[in-house]
Amino acid sequence: MRASILAIGDEIVAGLTTDTNSAFLAQVLRASGVEVVGFLAVADDVDAIRRALLRATDDAGFVVSTGGLGPTADDLTTSAVAGFVGTGLDLHEPSLRIIEERFRAMGVRMPPNNRKQAMLPSGSEPIPNRLGTAPGFAISTDRNGRSCHIICLPGVPREMKRMTEETVIPWIVRRAGKQHIGSRVFSTVGLTESALDDMLSGVVGDKEARLSFRAAFPRLQTRISIVGKSAEEVESRLEALDARIRDRLGDHVYAIGDEGLEETVGKLLLEKGSTLAVAESCTGGLIGHRITEVAGSSAYFSLGIVAYSNEMKTALLEVSPRTLEASGAVSEATVREMARGVRKASGAAIGLATSGIAGPSGGSDGKPVGTVCIGLAWETGEWSGTFQLGQRTREWIKEMTAQMGLDAVRRYLLDAPLDPLPRDDRPPIRDRGALS
Ligand code: ATP
Ligand code: MG
Repeated sequence: MRASILAIGDEIVAGLTTDTNSAFLAQVLRASGVEVVGFLAVADDVDAIRRALLRATDDAGFVVSTGGLGPTADDLTTSAVAGFVGTGLDLHEPSLRIIEERFRAMGVRMPPNNRKQAMLPSGSEPIPNRLGTAPGFAISTDRNGRSCHIICLPGVPREMKRMTEETVIPWIVRRAGKQHIGSRVFSTVGLTESALDDMLSGVVGDKEARLSFRAAFPRLQTRISIVGKSAEEVESRLEALDARIRDRLGDHVYAIGDEGLEETVGKLLLEKGSTLAVAESCTGGLIGHRITEVAGSSAYFSLGIVAYSNEMKTALLEVSPRTLEASGAVSEATVREMARGVRKASGAAIGLATSGIAGPSGGSDGKPVGTVCIGLAWETGEWSGTFQLGQRTREWIKEMTAQMGLDAVRRYLLDAPLDPLPRDDRPPIRDRGALS
């Protein structure tokens, strides 16, 4: 099962639109057990599209293209594909009715050129587009004595994605024979990509499954994909691998699936009937923002304060001026008082606080850029940690600090050790000297 991906559009080859469609398609195809052999990008030009199809069908049994299905004269994909396959165009009545209906629902007359979008190559199968007007289509042809399937999708990413997931992947999997495909994603925290790679080395045999990594900072994910003979077989093999992977990664795995740490923490707070308040300095409200991105967070999140100046740390969070004087704003003593203060102000069960030097200026020998402190306070105790994140960008340091703060809450709620294991090629270094 091999696929070649084709991006069609003048604006793509002009460099005005970044080809994110191909990246998306490659990921989902790969996750479904399809080997992606390459990407091609061409202009809205019949001859260029024809040459790309020659190349793509030489390389693979499935070609998936995006772009150029619109109603305007510069949208040439359909006629180019029909020409390549050696067929004409037919009006597909059901698609025309859907397009007319969409315009009726919007209360506008359908412009005559939209009729073009219901013209599909003879013998093709339409692919419904529930989010836009242009349907996609799939057509099969013989090339070099074997059959090739060409699948054409609109360029608009939202429409293309929906159609890929709903129709294209099942279509490809059906045609590829009796294979069953399954995958599982492990979302992790507290590890770099290289540390993750290292920890998982040898855990999955070459023939057993495909292991892939995805870093969408601050998220880091590992995916295992399996091709098997039955759904049951795939599921039981996934289960076995799941156990081995968790055994290696331990509590660095915070969720199965593509989930943000803020969602995991929210679920845990709900589950434990607990509540959280946050006092942020260097993260500037990022933690509060992430927590409140989750619908229903009002059930467990009561207060977020961005106390940036020393005066406000004292006025709003009761951080003692003496602590600020003796230890500085970026210190474990200060974040502990901030966490205690926000807990007291809100009545929440848990108080979380951050303070750090996000740079690029403001570092010193003792506290270089990238020094961050995280504090946690609860009814019967408290915890703090100092971490050296290194000379990174301001944005990176803020994001990473927010991630580590959320992870501290997760670890507390799970009764896991609060100091994450420094399994890292840039390890978080505990600076116990600053502990009060
Ligand atoms: P439309 O009906 O909107 O004309 P279409 O199928 O003809 O749809 P295009 O005109 O090629 O698609 O692209 C529509 C829009 O989708 C582009 O303006 C661009 O913003 C986006 N787009 C197209 N191709 C890609 C791609 N490969 N990656 C990301 N975005 C894309
Ligand atoms: Mg177009």
